[in-house]
Amino acid sequence: MTKSSTVAVLGAGPSGLMAAWELNKAGFRVILIESSSQVGGMAATQTYTGKHGSYRFDYGGHRFITRNQELLNFVESLMGDELLLSFRKSAIRLDGRTYQYPLAINDLLKNAPLSLLAGATRDLLCQLPFQTPTQDRNTASFAEWIESRFGTTLYQNFFAGYTEKLWGISPRELSADWAAQRISLLDLKDVAQRLIPRKGDTPRTYARKYRYPKLGFGRIFDRLAEKLVDDGVELLLNHSVTGLKMEGKTLKAVHSDNIEIPVDQVISTLPLPMMAEFLEIPHQLGYRSLRFFNMPMATENISDNTWQYLSDPGILATRLQEPRRRSPYMAPEGHTSLMLEIPCFEDDETWSMTNEKLLPRVLTDLRALGVDTDKSTGEYFSCHTAHAYPMMRMGYQQERRRVIQQLNSIPNLIMTGRQGTFRYIFTDTAMEMGQLAARSLIEKQDRREEIFDFCNEPTVIETQSVA
Ligand SMILES: Cc1cc2nc3c(=O)[nH]c(=O)nc-3n(C[C@H](O)[C@H](O)[C@H](O)COP(=O)(O)OP(=O)(O)OC[C@H]3O[C@@H](n4cnc5c(N)ncnc54)[C@H](O)[C@@H]3O)c2cc1C
Repeated sequence: MTKSSTVAVLGAGPSGLMAAWELNKAGFRVILIESSSQVGGMAATQTYTGKHGSYRFDYGGHRFITRNQELLNFVESLMGDELLLSFRKSAIRLDGRTYQYPLAINDLLKNAPLSLLAGATRDLLCQLPFQTPTQDRNTASFAEWIESRFGTTLYQNFFAGYTEKLWGISPRELSADWAAQRISLLDLKDVAQRLIPRKGDTPRTYARKYRYPKLGFGRIFDRLAEKLVDDGVELLLNHSVTGLKMEGKTLKAVHSDNIEIPVDQVISTLPLPMMAEFLEIPHQLGYRSLRFFNMPMATENISDNTWQYLSDPGILATRLQEPRRRSPYMAPEGHTSLMLEIPCFEDDETWSMTNEKLLPRVLTDLRALGVDTDKSTGEYFSCHTAHAYPMMRMGYQQERRRVIQQLNSIPNLIMTGRQGTFRYIFTDTAMEMGQLAARSLIEKQDRREEIFDFCNEPTVIETQSVA
C-alpha cells in the first residue's frame, strides 16, 4: 500500500467523509462512493420549499455533542459562525400528562398519578433494596436491566410501551445494551438524587447545550464534502455499490450498477449485513427503520420542547420534534414545522403507505397531543431511513462479531462507522472511527479490532459532552 494506491471509501456519511479527509490530507488517492444524491448519510438535512419559503428537516433532529475537544475544534473551524450553541429541553408524554426528561423526582411528584407514585415508592422500598442490578449487558434483556434499576412500576409505565413501539419487539427480547448506552440515569436512586443531592455525591449531569449549524446538522457534512472535492477527492454521488469483485482473498474492484471501479484498498461504512450479502456470508442481522413525517406549520411556535418522547403505545410516532427549537433558521420567519419519527421495518405497511393515507392518523395523534392542527399549511412529506437502528436482539453481539471476523479475513478491507460495525453510536464516534480507519492505513497498522470495539464502554455520551 503506497500513496499512489487507490483507496475507495464506501458511503459519504460522517464516517466515510472523515476517513476521506484523513487519507486525502496524507496524500492518498481517494474515491468516495455514495448511493444518495447528497452527502451526510443519516446526519444529512433535507430542504423543503413550501408556499411560505424553505423549511429544513434532519433525519430525526441531530445535535453535535462530543467528549473529543480536538474534534469539536475541527467542526468549529469548518463551520465558523454558522455553528450555533443551542439548548435542549425535552419531555415525556404519557396518558395525557407531560413529564420532564430525564425523569426527576420533584417533577414526578408534581405530575404523576397517585397510583404510579405509590407503585414507585413501593419499588424503591420493597423491591430494589433486595435486588442486585443486572450487570452483564451481553446476556441480560432490556426489561431485566431496567426493572432491576428502576423497579417494575417505572419500567411498565415509562419504558416498556415506548421500547416495544420503537423496536417492534418485546423488551424481553431486546439486549440490555440499548439501556446501558441510552438511559442517562443510573437507577431510581439517581432519579431521587435530583431532588436531594447529597454532599460529594453529585448525580450525573445531562448535556443540555449542544452545537448545531444554523441551516441544519447536515451542513457540517456539506462543508466537509465541498472542501474534499476542492482538494481533489473524487466524489461519486448517486452511485450505489451493488457488489464486490474478489481475487482469492483480496478485493479487486467495487461494482456500482454497470461500472467496475478497480481498488487497492477499501474502507467501507456500508451496513455490515449488506457487505456480508455481497460476499455471500449468511447472517441474522437486521435493522429497525424510521419514517419521518414532516409538516410546515403557519405559526411561530408549537411548544418550547426541542423534542417530546411519545410513550403511549396508541400513538404511532415515538418522538415529536420542532426543528426551529434547534435553530430559528430551520423555518421561514413567522413559521415553524413538525417532524414525527415513526418506527417501522423497511417495506412494511407503515414504511410504504402513501402520505395521504398516513395523514389522517398523524392529525388524530397530533390533536391528542394538544397540537392545533388547523395551523398546518396543508403541506407535508415523508422521508425514510432504512438503517436507523441496528436490531439489538439478545445475542446480536455474537452474531456481529462472527460476521465481522469473516470480513476481516479480507486483508484490504476495513469496516468502520455506525453501519459498518453495526453499532448504536453518535456522529462524533462515527467520525472518530472514520479517522481511525484512515490512520490505520496511513500508519500501516491493522487496527480493525480496535475500530470494532471503539468507545464500547458502558457510558452515556450525553452525560459527558464538551460541546
Ligand atoms: C433518529 C436518529 C437521530 C440521531 N440523532 C443524533 C444526534 O442527535 N446526534 C448525533 O451525534 N448522532 C445522532 N444520530 C446518529 C448519527 O446519525 C449516526 O451516528 C451517523 O450518521 C453515523 O454515520 P456513518 O457514516 O457511520 O453512517 P451513515 O450516516 O448511515 O452513512 C452511511 C452512508 O453509506 C451510504 N450507503 C449505504 N448503502 C450504500 C451503497 N450500497 N452504496 C453506496 N453508499 C451507500 C448511505 O447513503 C450513507 O450516506 C441519530 C440517528 C438517528 C437514526
